[in-house]
Amino acid sequence: MKNTKILVINCGSSSLKYQLISMPQGTMLAKGNVERIGDIKKAFIYQKTSDGRELIKKSGEMKNNLLLADHKAAFQYVIEALIEKKFGILNGLKDIDIVAHRVVHGGEHYRDSVMVTKEVLKVIEDLSDLAPLHNPANVQGIRSALEVLPGVPQTATFDTAFHQTIPEHAYRYALPTELYEKYKIRKYGFHGTSHRYVANQAVQMLNRSIENTNLISCHLGNGCSITAIAGGKSVDTSMGFTPLEGLMMGTRCGDIDPAIIPYLVMDKGYNIEEVNTILNKCSGALGLFEKTNDMRDIVEAAKGGDKKAQLTLDIYTYRIKKYIGAYCALLIKVDALIFTGGVGQNSWFLREMICKYLQNIGIHLDKEQNKITGCKTGQISFDYSPITILVVPTNEEQQMAMDAYQLVGTKKLKKVV
Ligand code: ADP
Repeated sequence: MKNTKILVINCGSSSLKYQLISMPQGTMLAKGNVERIGDIKKAFIYQKTSDGRELIKKSGEMKNNLLLADHKAAFQYVIEALIEKKFGILNGLKDIDIVAHRVVHGGEHYRDSVMVTKEVLKVIEDLSDLAPLHNPANVQGIRSALEVLPGVPQTATFDTAFHQTIPEHAYRYALPTELYEKYKIRKYGFHGTSHRYVANQAVQMLNRSIENTNLISCHLGNGCSITAIAGGKSVDTSMGFTPLEGLMMGTRCGDIDPAIIPYLVMDKGYNIEEVNTILNKCSGALGLFEKTNDMRDIVEAAKGGDKKAQLTLDIYTYRIKKYIGAYCALLIKVDALIFTGGVGQNSWFLREMICKYLQNIGIHLDKEQNKITGCKTGQISFDYSPITILVVPTNEEQQMAMDAYQLVGTKKLKKVV
């Protein structure tokens, strides 16, 4: 159906990001975010429409004096902003055809995006154990949308779903089987929507069929993960039971010897919350460089001769290289290496560091092309490179809108009030 308007929602614990996308064209009509939900003095909404109109409003300034005390108020605020006469883009509530929600954890239940039903909502809620910071916020987002837009179809897209094709020998840890059976401790992987989106973009660009293409996709943002994709299916990924495993990230340590944790707790007097904070929030680029986790600043400092910055980048790129090598070893053949995420899309400098000396595994970077490829889709390897290197900007919202559009389909689009 033409001009299906999909409201894509990404709820965090105190934020709500959204985009209004018109399908099947995939045109973004407006995007915005509500921040500091729960803080009725400082909460605010920012929205920008595709024609450049910007709205910034603080809690309490909108109609009905909504105070942004919770996610439902934030969702109502978003709707108000979208239908606002001067800054909005819709005529009324009835213009929203589907609401598509990002959900972090789908456990072993979901391999694809699904329509939200009572049962689905219950499963997402039950999975809060595995994603205590994220799933409860995602549930709040869904409940708010159900209340504010009753009868509008809702879909859920899971960060973990794409990785449900990873075989057991890759997703199981060598821990007692009981821990898997009782507590479902295994690799789940995250960033799945992004890896799936860039994989599809890459095969279109290469003019290949997804079934016959093997890819290694590097999502390098503040969070970082790398995925091996065989015939369109994720077969391994660097994040694990939580997003802490794998590559070094902005503030997360990535792979470490797990014995460091009992050593800090039992020998050095740290409590487990402190260790958890160290591993998730004080490590990675921030922990090493000590001033910031912003890769732009660290790259600049390294160029200026700062030794700590240089070491931070050396560790960061060394670990990415190791994963690329490992994933080359488990795919029969690799057709393309993809760079995406804030760092992957924008930093020619880090891409060059990562690809250095990878010629022996068929990765030949065209340094000049790499430098001039800005944040847009493009090839940065020489034509003779056995593995094509691509920059592909990610767009998780587009992928969610595509999923929602396909799921709801033309027939079911009638609203059930
Ligand atoms: P998130 O994981 O939060 O979605 P992004 O994918 O937006 O984050 O990536 C944010 C990171 O990308 C930041 O560390 C930022 O410094 C980095 N980044 C953006 N542009 C560049 C650049 N030109 N060079 C190096 N790093 C960059």
